[in-house]
Amino acid sequence: MNLEDYIASIPDYPEEGVTFRDISPLMADGKAYRKAVNEIVDYADKKQIDMVVGPEARGFIVGCPVAYEIGVGFAPVRKPGKLPRKTIEVTYDKEYGKDTLTLHEDAIQPGQRVLICDDLLATGGTVKATIDLVEKLGGIVVGCAFLIELLDLHGRDKINGYEIRTLLDY
Ligand code: IMP
Repeated sequence: MNLEDYIASIPDYPEEGVTFRDISPLMADGKAYRKAVNEIVDYADKKQIDMVVGPEARGFIVGCPVAYEIGVGFAPVRKPGKLPRKTIEVTYDKEYGKDTLTLHEDAIQPGQRVLICDDLLATGGTVKATIDLVEKLGGIVVGCAFLIELLDLHGRDKINGYEIRTLLDY
């Protein structure tokens, strides 16, 4: 089975000139979804992960089954105003303007080993902000796993020095 066959490419979405990579066909196929999750679980093996962290919303789709399979907890990273208890936040630059992400302040204990999961690595802004949140709480980011990497956008350059695992490149 080739996971690439389960990614839909939508030209000119959400704007002209952009090709959106959609993981929903992969999620819709139990065998493909399981294979993708298992590949990330294999990557996480021997890293002694304590927590998985993923940004909304597709980071939950990838990160939650990985956490469940490893047998550790999952902490959601969300846009401001979504998490009900006390949070920390990080603001980062996007192509047009800024964005802020938040994490419950007790989501990670100092010294915990964290795996970050998301569906896709583009410019790297989201994962960098997620790393910053985890590190603010004293967590140690031991890996970042994605289903897809958009090579043209050089997201890796933003997170130099961190271990990255991606399943598919475009
Ligand atoms: P970055 O911050 O530029 O690396 O963008 C990555 C974030 O935007 C991830 O959370 C993705 O879910 C989302 N994203 C950006 N481009 C795409 C795409 O083509 N398909 C699906 N998600 C995308």
